[in-house]
Amino acid sequence: MAKIIGIDLGTTNSAVAVMKNGELQILENAEGNRTTPSIVALSKGGERLVGLLAKRQSVTNPKNTIFSVKRLIGRKWSDPEVQRDKAWLPYEVQEGPGGGVQVKMGDKWYSPEEISAMVLAKLKADAEARLGEKVDEAVITVPAYFDDSQRQATKNAGEIAGLKVERIINEPTAAAFAYGVNKESNQKIVVYDFGGGTFDVSVLEIGFDPETKEQTIEVRATGGDTHLGGDDFDKKIQEFLVEEYKKQEGIDLAKDPLAVQRLKEAAERAKHELSSATETEINIPYITSDANGPKHFQIKMTRAKLESLVQDYLDRSVKLTEEAVTAPAPKGAGFKLGDINEVLLVGGQTRMPAMQEAVKKLFGKEPHKGINPDEVVALGAGIQGEILAAKKEGRKTEGEVKDILLLDVTPLTLAIETLGGVATPMIPKNTTVPTAKTQTFSTAADNQTSVEVLVLQGERPMAADNKVLARFMLDGIPQVEVTFDIDANGILNVSAKDKATGKSQSVKIEASTNLSKDEIERLKKEAAEHAAEDERKKELIDARNQAESLAYLAEKSLREAGDKVSEEIKTGVTEKLEALKKVKDGEDKAAIETATAALSQEIQKIGQAEYNKGNGPEENNAGGQGGAESGPQPEPGQPQ
Ligand code: ADP
Ligand code: MG
Repeated sequence: MAKIIGIDLGTTNSAVAVMKNGELQILENAEGNRTTPSIVALSKGGERLVGLLAKRQSVTNPKNTIFSVKRLIGRKWSDPEVQRDKAWLPYEVQEGPGGGVQVKMGDKWYSPEEISAMVLAKLKADAEARLGEKVDEAVITVPAYFDDSQRQATKNAGEIAGLKVERIINEPTAAAFAYGVNKESNQKIVVYDFGGGTFDVSVLEIGFDPETKEQTIEVRATGGDTHLGGDDFDKKIQEFLVEEYKKQEGIDLAKDPLAVQRLKEAAERAKHELSSATETEINIPYITSDANGPKHFQIKMTRAKLESLVQDYLDRSVKLTEEAVTAPAPKGAGFKLGDINEVLLVGGQTRMPAMQEAVKKLFGKEPHKGINPDEVVALGAGIQGEILAAKKEGRKTEGEVKDILLLDVTPLTLAIETLGGVATPMIPKNTTVPTAKTQTFSTAADNQTSVEVLVLQGERPMAADNKVLARFMLDGIPQVEVTFDIDANGILNVSAKDKATGKSQSVKIEASTNLSKDEIERLKKEAAEHAAEDERKKELIDARNQAESLAYLAEKSLREAGDKVSEEIKTGVTEKLEALKKVKDGEDKAAIETATAALSQEIQKIGQAEYNKGNGPEENNAGGQGGAESGPQPEPGQPQ
């Protein structure tokens, strides 16, 4: 029974959930944590790090630590968001092929898909280790506002990591799934998602058809701020700490990268603690030194202090939430605050009590917060994974999972450019997916032999203001029927047919930043090779570790052997130990293993000799096994 894992591929953190033994659960990673930082780095030693280890060295290795790559995935270089982000991201970013984006790590340029694939590859490997079986299929979540190319790029990242992406679903939809808000009635829901780097608010309407029992989840509005998140809270705390230290000691810690890395970690830890405690102590030993020697950092911080530092952020998120709910479409959902049936809290930062209070005050009702907010999206994806797996295998869904038919909708209008640069809608925003629309194009009109079709996504009336998804030429035929097909992932596929002959025409889509099939295949191979390389490295390290501990054991045995063991055995062990020491830190795994085995055998002789010595009656055996060695052995007074 193949599992389909659910993955929340977050801007800051990612999480994995799966149905196991009838129970939906978050899978811990190799470090034993339930979330994994979505960070990849090339360490100063040239090693590729993913997750916590990458995060730990981010401040001291900023140029080669790639975080927040989700901000760039599937976007064009010319995108205003990218132009804004490139100014503050500490790593290098440049225009990539097809007008996309590339990031630099070490001396190589990577597409955002490749970086995301490295995160996904770790999630996959760690999930496999937890489950004790191969995992090849996944459901991955994306923000509700992600357009076609961001979705496609996310799917491609999955493929590169060796995962067949069975479905892309919206994060707020997944959250609604996990909270089980699938009541048999129409519902209006607000998902307030405050993560590490972004604040996303979505207004959903769950429609229920009592006849078919079908439910649809419609995204009525999305809002928020792509540059407001928990990281900003950490920064505020960090600034506060630096100021305090300046006051106390007259030393500016902001100038020392190592101190900054430690302050950053301490700030985030303090923030977490203040979600459950009302006061915490920040304690960083040896943060710096002066003429009098090493200095420590120690300061108390209260919850009230934290709240006063970030009050502006809280107010801002509340204002943006109100706007998304009440502003008339398309900016907001055009609802009244009182119309909202449920408010769901998502994102690690919503663990902060003051934030929960602020949301409660706005809606005048208690928000749902039963599930860990940084796990809820992954859990929803896990549920979707289970539903898809059950469908594939023709079985019932396990556990509490209701086999509901949940239909997402297109986040943005799909349009084509027509005369005068106007964007003519083809598939309007909020159409339930999958959906298809066919349109006939004429090339014959004014003796043209071909016609260019521009496919757009967005809500603006003029073509130029929307995002170009695809551009293609239809050749030489009077009438061509073009079908625009949006699949269940919200991804567009285009096909064309010659109306006269019924023959299909291939549509070559240009001006897309997305990777080609060939490229995905190539990157997939590279990633798999990297995984094999990682595996080799791991085995080498295991071999070295074994050698290391055996060498230690040998030295200890030699020291403790005393006169119970003959010089000959001791010399034998010493020789093998020296041989192992020569190879144990090298690259030759086979040599390390051979030397380890040889030493291991030799050490056994010590044990044997000690055993024989200590058990007088078996001296006969000793003679037989140890041969002449046990004879001249006792030499009291001999230094060891
Ligand atoms: P994203 O969706 O952006 O990947 P998450 O939902 O994982 O991110 O949220 C990450 C943010 O949540 C970080 O800023 C982290 O410090 C914050 N966070 C996690 N746990 C807590 C907590 N107990 N109290 C306050 N903030 C928390
Ligand atoms: Mg998130």
